[in-house]
Amino acid sequence: MTTKLLILGGTTEASALAGLVAAAGVDAVFSYAGRVAAPKSQPLPTRVGGFGGADGLAQYIGESNISHVVDATHPFAAQMSWNAYHACKAEDVPMIALTRPAWCAQAGDRWRHVSDVDGAVAALAGRAKRVLLALGKQNVPAFVGASQHHYVLRLVDQPEVAPDLPHHTVVLARGPFDVAGDLALMRDHAIDVVVCKNSGGSGAEAKLAAARALDLPVILIDRPDLPQCDTCATAEAVVEWVAQTRAT
Ligand code: NAP
Repeated sequence: MTTKLLILGGTTEASALAGLVAAAGVDAVFSYAGRVAAPKSQPLPTRVGGFGGADGLAQYIGESNISHVVDATHPFAAQMSWNAYHACKAEDVPMIALTRPAWCAQAGDRWRHVSDVDGAVAALAGRAKRVLLALGKQNVPAFVGASQHHYVLRLVDQPEVAPDLPHHTVVLARGPFDVAGDLALMRDHAIDVVVCKNSGGSGAEAKLAAARALDLPVILIDRPDLPQCDTCATAEAVVEWVAQTRAT
């Protein structure tokens, strides 16, 4: 079977991998969920949209002669990771996850860990505050359960329908972010508390450094359970894995 990679993307790391794979001349397809209006263009053939669950992905793998799957999705895109795991098992195709280590608290951090978005909403019980919600648009509706707060919503695209939160400000921005910018954002909007996911990686870490510098509390959503599969931490290691699994 000839080598043909399917890269499940939507992260900075996936884009770095696409560049490396294209430069190496490896046949590959890049896949986006289609969540943002103008996704970053890739130097690889790109498809957009869901596959139709694990069965749909298995069918796509078979029909497109995919020989290897790289799960380079965000650590909170658990549904896609599980679908990829089951589809690769069904099609007997090797899969690897390109992962990033979770963030760990440093001296001066005031983190409160919660297990999911509902936990973050519950942690916001109490008097009205100004909250920086750095979560992605699909998680915003849950915060109607704590609608006393003023939310600063950092989003990639302007929402098509205004969020159902009585007090909010939308800030449009696409990472990677830096500490100076995040400090300015938190100061300009008089933020009292930050809510975010433990995404790991460097592109979104600045908000944690900014919160530390301003002595702000952070409600940090812990990662969901992900399938146990081969993992690597760099794009170079993925290319090496492809070469090795091709040779066997
Ligand atoms: P999810 O809940 O795990 O996936 C929901 C469904 O979206 C999947 O079942 C699949 O649909 C489709 N999907 C997800 N990723 C896809 C991909 N790369 N290519 C094709 N279809 C995909 O995913 P999510 O949390 O909504 O994340 C969606 C995308 O945004 C991912 O690419 C992820 O890397 C990126 N992202 C997510 C977050 C986050 O916090 N969750 C943050 C930054 C970026 P079907 O079942 O129909 O195949």
